[in-house]
Order: sequence, then structure tokens, then C-alpha cells
Amino acid sequence: MTHSRGTLPVMSDAAVRLAELRAEIRAHDHRYYVLDAPVVTDAEYDDLMRELRALETEHPDLVTDDSPTQRVGSAVDGLFQPVTHLRPLFSLDNAESTEDLDAWAGRLERGLGHVPEHFSCEPKIDGLAISLVYEDGRFVRGATRGDGVIGEDVTANLRTIASVPLRLVGDDVPSLLEVRGEVYLSDAAFAALNDAQDEAGDRRFINPRNAAAGSLRQKDPAMTATRDLAIWVYQAGLIEGGPELAGHTETMAYLGSLGLRVNPTSEVVDGLDGVKAYVAAAEDRRHDLGYQTDGVVIKVDDLSAQVELGFTARAPRWAIAYKYPPEERTTVLRDIQINIGRTGAATPFAVLEPVFVGGAMVGMATLHNEEELQRKDVRVGDTVIVRRAGDVIPEVLGPVVERRTGNEATWSMPATCPFCGHDIVRPEGEKVARCTGGLVCPSRLREWLAYFAGRGGMDIEHLGYKTIDLLIAEGLVADPADIYALVPADLEGREGWKDTSIGNLMAAIDASRDREVARLLTSLGIRHVGPSVARLITRRFPSMGAIAGAPEEDIAAVDGVGSVIASSVRDWFDDPANAALISKLGERGVRLADDPPDEVFEQTLEGLTLVITGTLDGFTRDEAKLAVESRGGRVAGSVSGKTAYLVAGAGGGSKRAKAESLGTPILDVEGFLELLESGPQ
Ligand code: NAD
Repeated sequence: MTHSRGTLPVMSDAAVRLAELRAEIRAHDHRYYVLDAPVVTDAEYDDLMRELRALETEHPDLVTDDSPTQRVGSAVDGLFQPVTHLRPLFSLDNAESTEDLDAWAGRLERGLGHVPEHFSCEPKIDGLAISLVYEDGRFVRGATRGDGVIGEDVTANLRTIASVPLRLVGDDVPSLLEVRGEVYLSDAAFAALNDAQDEAGDRRFINPRNAAAGSLRQKDPAMTATRDLAIWVYQAGLIEGGPELAGHTETMAYLGSLGLRVNPTSEVVDGLDGVKAYVAAAEDRRHDLGYQTDGVVIKVDDLSAQVELGFTARAPRWAIAYKYPPEERTTVLRDIQINIGRTGAATPFAVLEPVFVGGAMVGMATLHNEEELQRKDVRVGDTVIVRRAGDVIPEVLGPVVERRTGNEATWSMPATCPFCGHDIVRPEGEKVARCTGGLVCPSRLREWLAYFAGRGGMDIEHLGYKTIDLLIAEGLVADPADIYALVPADLEGREGWKDTSIGNLMAAIDASRDREVARLLTSLGIRHVGPSVARLITRRFPSMGAIAGAPEEDIAAVDGVGSVIASSVRDWFDDPANAALISKLGERGVRLADDPPDEVFEQTLEGLTLVITGTLDGFTRDEAKLAVESRGGRVAGSVSGKTAYLVAGAGGGSKRAKAESLGTPILDVEGFLELLESGPQ
């Protein structure tokens, strides 16, 4: 092998790969920024960028000015008028670990001679960047980021967003103001938009970011107005004729005072330890915000330090985006199978080429129901986007239609159940198909037993799926009542079972015999009857016999129940197989009637709704609720015009404030006791 043959191809390989990567990234940029229709997830895009950056670091001589690593976003197309920004809008460098944050701190220290004392930590909103210009307090122009220098004029569309003020307020309105912010769709607005898309028979949006970008970049502002977009403002670009400001946080407070919407979860923290603590806490609560965030943006708070640090070609040196691990990935959908749930519902799920997403390997994901699967038009063989966020079970968001090869197969619900062979039927007008095999269906039985023994039901400790699978496989249990006929000998000598574990299970089963009737009623898995409905019913009909004997209209008359639930309860109890199950449970020692209440209270609170907040001396929350309900009153979760009294113990600030604003009477413990005793005076 000659020398030149050993080196030259390596260089040209790198050059070829660089060209490929750049072309691919540019195409993705165009789809993402201009068409609002990406065909890869952000995580996959980030992988390409990472590869490009690494290759350019290795071959600095091959870096070109127009490389995506040197530029922001994408050039705009002709849909809107181009606007040259007063000051360029930048991207952000990324950090993915605390080591990356340490490395950033190192760069700051080299630039400034010290690590800054204060940092502003802010949620990284997953929407699209927007610049707003105000002249003498009047909103005159708004634009997308575009390539950072030239954006698109979307003023008319931005004017439709309620949280974009058309006029600034306050005593200190500057003569010229340019601010940046993120336009986004809240989770609720996103869900409503997809519901509307379904209704219109249009394709659903995959995620709130793409939906927000598509909604803002509408040719017709009237369309944008229907989309419930909102904005968080996070940066000042230019302020003329305003106050002297020394820090970013101070600037944000000033922008807030002008009526711009600044994010309340932003915080100024001390040093890098403060940053790390904020990042960890922010990741924990990221799913509780009501809108999507994909990281934390950290900024050096001192504005003079910002000036000293300056910018690279595409990002400020004084800020960094700490990105959370990706929650969306694409993978191949290998198969669609069904599971039969405890009510017999046939739920399709996706069998996936395993993919690492949201911090775990995911091989299966829910497809919800047949109708939704058809609406999303997911096909076997499709490349699909999978989302796994927090504790929510992984789901298939939809197919990447552009990646279809033509070999994908549409799916339809099987006519018979793969577990028991009975027909699967979907009644007209219903969303859900059901297996007709009843408890003969082992899948349904398994799910029912798990639900029966679960926390919300009879709460039988040590009786999880693994044990249930064994009991079904060995023919020991064919319905929930069989649980109560188990004896230690059934399990003795089986793998994994010792005297202690058998003893524990037997004791747990025995303890569950005495649960209140509401729990038993819940655990039966009657449609529409969850724990709260079960409690309402058993308060009026405190035994299985009483419910079984109650006419439908009497059940429907129970406050909070109504005709749909009553008919479902009636149907269940009228089925002889279910009646037999109840008798069998009773024969095996399960309590079928609640003890009569010790006292019968005068119905002093009939027709009144109370709200309870804070801690009440002498009552747990449940006891206080029971005290109200046993006197004919109701307890609601929030204060409204219908609230007769707010009972407020220690704490409970926001409900008290609401009650005060509505003029609702507020009672302390003494007042509450008096009310229980003698009713309203
Ligand atoms: P970025 O999204 O990583 O960070 C910069 C942006 O963060 C700013 O422009 C601003 O819009 C936003 N931001 C949100 N909250 C902020 C705050 N509090 N302070 C400051 N800025 C805040 O960078 P980018 O250049 O906008 O986009 C690159 C990213 O976009 C990629 O990492 C990728 O995830 C995604 N992308 C995806 C595709 C695709 O095809 N899937 C294509 C292009 C880009």
C-alpha cells in the first residue's frame, strides 16, 4: 500500500461525508423552519448535527461559512414579506450533561477571568422564536427568526395572540423596544386543536411545536386567531429611551412591568451549583407546566459580562441550553397486536423495533383504540414517532408518511379474539371493539383479576400480574371469587414460593375480605363505576343485596350518578353470571354489606356545597368531607359562585383569596363545627 493511498481517501471520505451531512441537515432545516413538516425527530436531527460538528472539529480546514454549524435556522421562503431584524436573532449552544455545564463554566472563566456569580435559569419553551418591535409603546412589527438576520413579517398573525400586547403599559415605556419570545401552544390548546382536526377529517399534528409553528405561519390571520397560541417573552434585543438596566433578570422584570408576558418559573440562582439544582428540579416538574419544554436556558445575568463574552457565529457565549434527554424518537412499527382489557375492550398496541426514548428501551407502545389508529393511519412497516414522557405509557404519535416505501400494510381489528377465539365486535357508534368471550378469555380475566386486587379495588398486597399469571395457568382461578378459595397447598412446592411468601399472600387475601362494600363494587369493573361513583352508590345502597334489588331509576336518582351509570349497574347485576359471582364471594367470606352507620345525622347541610382547604384541627380531610356528606352536603374541589362556605384551616392561601374575591363566607374550625351542628343560620 502506498502512502498516498493510505491518507488521501480518508480526507476525501471526510469531505464526502461532510457534504452529505450538510445537504441532509439543510433539507431538514427547510422542512422544519419553512414547511413546518419535519421528517425526523429533534433527537435524530441533533445526532446529525453532532456528527457534523465532530467531523468539522477533526477537519477545521473543511469548515465552510455556509455550514449549518455556522448559521442559524434557515432562509425564508416567499410566503411572507422578509424583515431585516434590528439585531440578529441567535440560536443557542447545547449542553446535555452536568459535565457540559462545567465545560461551559470553564469557557466563561477563560473569557471573564472568573465564573459569574449569578445566572438566570429559564424553561426552554418548545415553540418558535419570534421578535416583537414596539415604537413608543405601540406594537409595530413581529417576525419569525428566519436565518437570524432576515425573518418573515408575521405581524398580522401575532396581533391575534391575546398575550402579545398591542400597547405597552406603565410609566417607563421606551421609545424603541425589540424583544424576543417563544410562541407556543399549551397542552390543552394542542389537544383541542387535534380534536378539531379530527372533526374536520384533517390530519392530526404530531406535537405542539410543529402545530404552533404551522398555526403562526398561516397566510390568513383569521386562521391563526382560532389556534389559541400564547407567548413567553425571554430576552430584550434592543431598548432605546428606557431605564438603565444592569442584569438580565432586572430586564425581564422591566419587560413584565410593560405588560409583556414573562415566565414565572424563571429564577436567578447563585453559581453553577445553583444552576445544577434548578436544572434537576425543572426536569422533575417539566410535565406539570401545561406546556412543552425541552430543556433549561441558562444565561449569565450580568449584562456587562454578556457584552464582554459576545457571540460565536450562531450563538451567544453567555447562554447555553441544557437539553433534556429526548422523549420522541422514530422507529419501525413491526406489528400491531391486541390486548383484551378487563372490560373486554380490545386495545391495539404497537410492536416496535426497540428504541431508547425517554430514558428507557421501548419495544411496545399503545395505539389507544381502533378508531384512533385509523385516524392516525398507522400501518405495519411504517416509520413511526414514539413518545415516552415521564410516567405516561409510551405511545405512537403517528407515522412519518414521507418515509413510506409502499410495502406498508394497513391493519384492521381481527374478527376473533386471539386469546379465546370468541368474536370481537364493535357496536355501531362506539369507539371500542370488545371480545365477547367474557371471563373465558384469559386476557380479560388476567386484567380483571389485576384490577380486582389492585390499589383502587380490594387492595390485595402480593397479588400482582406474575402471581395472577401462575394462578390462571394452573387453573386455580377462573373468577375473582376463586381468589378466596385458595389454600397454601395450592402454592406449596412451586418455584419461587416459600412458606413466608405463601403466608403473606394468604394473610393479604384474608384481610381483603373485610373491605368496605364501595371497594368491592369498584373492583367488579362495572363500566362507569370507579371509586367515587361506587362510594356514592353504596352510601345510598350499603350492601350488594340492596344494589342488586334497586330499580334503575332509584340508582339514577342518587346525586352524582345519573341514567348512564344506573343502566350500566343494572345491566351488570341483572346478568345471572354476575349474580352468581356475588353469591360465591359471599359464601367465601367476603363482606357484602357495610355496617350500619353508628349515628344518623340530621340533614342540616342539604343542598349546600362546601370547599375545604388547609389543615383543620381535629379532622382529617376525609373526616371533614364525611361530616359534610353525612349531613346531606357536598364537598367540591374549588371555590366558585356555587360555593356556600369555604372551610379554611391553617394554610390554603389561594382558595381563601378566591373566596374573598367572591364574597363567599369563610369558616374556621369553630364555625365549621357550629355549621355541622345547626346548619346555616
Ligand atoms: P434551539 O432550539 O436548540 O435553541 C434556541 C432557541 O431556543 C431560540 O431560538 C428560542 O427560540 C428558544 N428558546 C426557548 N426558550 C428560550 C429562553 N428562555 N431563552 C432563550 N431562548 C429560548 O436552537 P434552534 O437553532 O432554534 O433549533 C435547533 C433545534 O431545532 C435542534 O436542536 C432540533 O432540536 C430542532 N430542529 C429539528 C429539525 C428536524 O428536522 N426535526 C430541524 C431543524 C431544527
